[in-house]
Amino acid sequence: MSTDSIKIPFIDLAAQQKNIRTSIDKRLMNVLDHGKYIMGPEISELEGLLSEFIKVKHVVSCSSGTDALYVSLLAAGIGKGDAVFIPSFTFAATAEAVVLCGAIPVFIDVDPLFFNIDPAKLNEAIERVKKSDNLKPRAIIAVDLFGIPAPYSELCEISNSHGLLLIADAAQSFGGSIKEDKVGTFADITTTSFFPSKPLGCYGDGGAIFTDDDDMADIIRSIRAHGGSNQGKYDNVRVGMNARLDTIQAAILIEKLKIFPGELISRQAIAGRYTELLSDVVTTPSVPDGYLSAWAQYTIATNQREQLSEYLNGYGVPTQIYYPKPLHKQLPYKGSQAVSGELPITDKLSQTLMSLPMHPYLETETQDKISRCVVAFFEENARVTN
Ligand SMILES: *Cc1c(COP(=O)(O)O)cnc(C)c1O
Repeated sequence: MSTDSIKIPFIDLAAQQKNIRTSIDKRLMNVLDHGKYIMGPEISELEGLLSEFIKVKHVVSCSSGTDALYVSLLAAGIGKGDAVFIPSFTFAATAEAVVLCGAIPVFIDVDPLFFNIDPAKLNEAIERVKKSDNLKPRAIIAVDLFGIPAPYSELCEISNSHGLLLIADAAQSFGGSIKEDKVGTFADITTTSFFPSKPLGCYGDGGAIFTDDDDMADIIRSIRAHGGSNQGKYDNVRVGMNARLDTIQAAILIEKLKIFPGELISRQAIAGRYTELLSDVVTTPSVPDGYLSAWAQYTIATNQREQLSEYLNGYGVPTQIYYPKPLHKQLPYKGSQAVSGELPITDKLSQTLMSLPMHPYLETETQDKISRCVVAFFEENARVTN
């Protein structure tokens, strides 16, 4: 084939920075001038902007997406003897937060089309745990994998009928929506991450928690800073932690949020174009009707993943595999109480999915090269195997 040898970034943060560098510089200078590095004015400015963007009552910025989950579970009083239902096909943080607060994660299989927690299997697992005498069902953490919101209307029904707390791990889906409503409004508590490569990323670690519940928001704010009260951080009314977002990261996020709506539109266009170019040779991602993905990843499925990946890398096209080993097979969890039964869809997806370069600054020409490379692999391979 005649695809030129090219070097392509998987996510091009430098291209984004070029567009906003001057305003970022100004924001950073401003923080250096006022010197309020912890909980400076940029924190409440950012929280206000996020609350307006999502249309959610409370936004509590924090130190990372992992801490956002951990703080939320602590705020809900989840701990020893509690079962928290989570998908196995997710990043380790979802399970870690559960284990760190003393509860047991119960792994649920995902649906084969959108890769999010399967409501029917979730319901079965809740019924099963209800019958056990050493575990109490307490919460569900749904994960919006690759940017697609989980099936929240079904999940809300399940959480309501069993009296469970519903948390949305929206680390990958900030900016996504279902009909008119944005990610951040579907669950009792939503958490997100501002890790640099997430849809809205800062230049370090960061995260946020969204909720409409006034009491929950108060407790979350208290836990974020050492269990302080309205009387201040030296009046410690509960055990908390240091889970604050840095002022400098908030300053960066304020500027990045300004260009974020435009970036979301670009992501839609780029994803749509990939699907046009690739749907004849691989399984391209599906999005449920009325849903908008934040397109954290553009993920295809093929039985020849390893060969395709090697082929693309050879032409300078980077690829990523999310996730090669699901959590129920990872050392800290396998064989534990958390793993009961088979998760066949999760097992299959962990062997067939592969993500392609995806970011709002991916140029048409580059995307064409990547797509031509994928198509050429299947043409050459068909020739070899025939
Ligand atoms: C990235 C990610 C997290 C953790 O976010 P950090 O900010 O890196 O702590 C949690 N859950 C999911 C699904 C993620 O993709």
